[in-house]
Amino acid sequence: MSCKCAIPTDQYHGWECTVSGGECMFLMPNSKACAEKYCEGPDAKIIEERRSGMSKVSSNDVILVCKVCSTEFVISQELLDKFAAKKLSAPTHCPACLEKKHNIKYYPCKDCGGQFGMNQLEREYYLEKMGWPLPVRCPKCREKRRVAKEATRK
Ligand SMILES: [Zn+2]
Ligand SMILES: [Zn+2]
Repeated sequence: MSCKCAIPTDQYHGWECTVSGGECMFLMPNSKACAEKYCEGPDAKIIEERRSGMSKVSSNDVILVCKVCSTEFVISQELLDKFAAKKLSAPTHCPACLEKKHNIKYYPCKDCGGQFGMNQLEREYYLEKMGWPLPVRCPKCREKRRVAKEATRK
């Protein structure tokens, strides 16, 4: 936190601004804060470039809503076009949820002994959203039990 436009002086509170010729607006010269607040000083150009760069990107971007957590996430039109070219649908998961989707853990099935995978989203769905324990059977065995149950009901 400093500013190369601030020079120590006996006047003011100890700092003079070489850009405005007056007192530095900050108690401790801070070129970054100065650029953000007043668009002045040595860092102003960087901030300006970043701002215009951001607006340039956003005009080309599409905002999508994550179907899991409903958070808005930004994807470039370019990437969407690539998805379309491959006949894929647009992403439905935000980057955070996508990461969870790929975070798969494997569990042994209580009935058949086989392994079945559950990703973090599924685990969170059971544990956090529904307040249920994690399933102890693979999807196939779960389906078998469901069918058997229905058969006895009839
Ligand atoms: Zn999400
Ligand atoms: Zn099983």
